[in-house]
Amino acid sequence: MSRSAHPAGPRHADVLTEGHYSAPAADLNVLDEKVWSRTVTRDADGALTVGGIAVARLAEEFGTPAYFLDESDFRARCRAWADAFGPDADVFYAGKAFLSRAVVRWLKEEGLNLDVCSGGELTTALDAGLPAERIAFHGNNKTVAEIERAVEAGVGRIVLDSFQEIVRVAHIAQRHGVRQRVQIRVTVGVEAHTHEFIATAHEDQKFGIALADGQAAEAVRRALSLDGLELIGVHSHIGSQIFDMAGFEVSARRVVQLLAEVRDEHGVELPEIDLGGGLGIAYTSEDDPREPHEIAKALSDIVTRECEAAKLRTPRISVEPGRAIVGPTAFTLYEVGTIKPLEGLRTYVSVDGGMSDNIRTALYDAEYSVALVSRTSDAEPMLVRVVGKHCESGDIVVKDAFLPADLAPGDLIAVPATGAYCRSMASNYNHALRPPVVAVRDGEARVIVRRETEEDLLRLDVG
Ligand SMILES: *Cc1c(COP(=O)(O)O)cnc(C)c1O
Repeated sequence: MSRSAHPAGPRHADVLTEGHYSAPAADLNVLDEKVWSRTVTRDADGALTVGGIAVARLAEEFGTPAYFLDESDFRARCRAWADAFGPDADVFYAGKAFLSRAVVRWLKEEGLNLDVCSGGELTTALDAGLPAERIAFHGNNKTVAEIERAVEAGVGRIVLDSFQEIVRVAHIAQRHGVRQRVQIRVTVGVEAHTHEFIATAHEDQKFGIALADGQAAEAVRRALSLDGLELIGVHSHIGSQIFDMAGFEVSARRVVQLLAEVRDEHGVELPEIDLGGGLGIAYTSEDDPREPHEIAKALSDIVTRECEAAKLRTPRISVEPGRAIVGPTAFTLYEVGTIKPLEGLRTYVSVDGGMSDNIRTALYDAEYSVALVSRTSDAEPMLVRVVGKHCESGDIVVKDAFLPADLAPGDLIAVPATGAYCRSMASNYNHALRPPVVAVRDGEARVIVRRETEEDLLRLDVG
């Protein structure tokens, strides 16, 4: 989407040298339900509440910065995905977006499966009691120890990502006397981001085995020839924060073409295809994500049509949404520390967190919204940049946004849609203590990942 620089109101009428923002909302006190989790609202005093609890109480009890996760919203999104895809498809939540034992239990109760991509994620899932057959193991360089662990645990599938791994997994499975169910991850030559996708002939990336030059067909040949492996299908994942289904269309067409080639060469119809994750969410009011049932219908129509054309039985479809489930369900709460108006530019608002709890803006220019949540305000909008407390000028949380001009130190502000890839990518830069994740539901708040302490830091530093 293209976003134009827009006059920012009288206070900053002559500012607009650079920037990537829209006009301020007509009323900054109104919380756009697209970017906030479902139980978020303002109470009679104007304070934001989630799960029926006001942010001032949350800040007092749990401190700031902190992530607050709307549990009933998370569960509702799991159910929406499971219902949309129905019994003939599988939904795998991509654990790398955010994983904890509580989350695993919610997934288990709501009938979802789980993608993991490291021994740590696998341990978390198993420890929380998710049956191993509901787990898929991903990654472009799983260690031998990780593969051993996954095979021993009996994970439902391992997604093979290289020729070395095909052999490695087959050997380990044989040694354990099992046939490991596997998929082969193929690179289909499609890169999708937000509103665009690029279809290319070859791929320049570390994931998967290329379709284009016959490598994927060779990988299938080898996997079918090895006793330790039961090849159940083909996997493709084309990007992230995708709104345009056209990339999935090209990807599905290419994957189905491979299934047809496999049938012609081996007389085998592989029973499953996995179309990956990457579905977009609303970070700002300008994003319009699709509902799970629209996505399910679009994907199943594409696959059905392509299979009919290739005279193949329609395979079982799986998808792997991470961001689309957890992203919208949490916000990060910060306290405003300092405020620096730079005349003719913008106002820098410093909060008590930053790139250590949300690296996405610094890492890939992600866009976020922000709101004053401890109170309402009738002051005019001011153009702000919300920055952290780290020793890095790129330590930006929200690049361009509007907050009321009477913003003051001590106010609480919140950044919505931080459920995915924020806590899971959090760091200890500057020896920051990673914030807690607090699940809020029906008037109760409970810590599911506690705040790090200075003792935690010193415990790792063995002197
Ligand atoms: C990252 C990833 C996902 C999840 O992506 P989202 O953008 O969070 O939906 C799914 N599948 C694979 C293989 C991935 O690498």
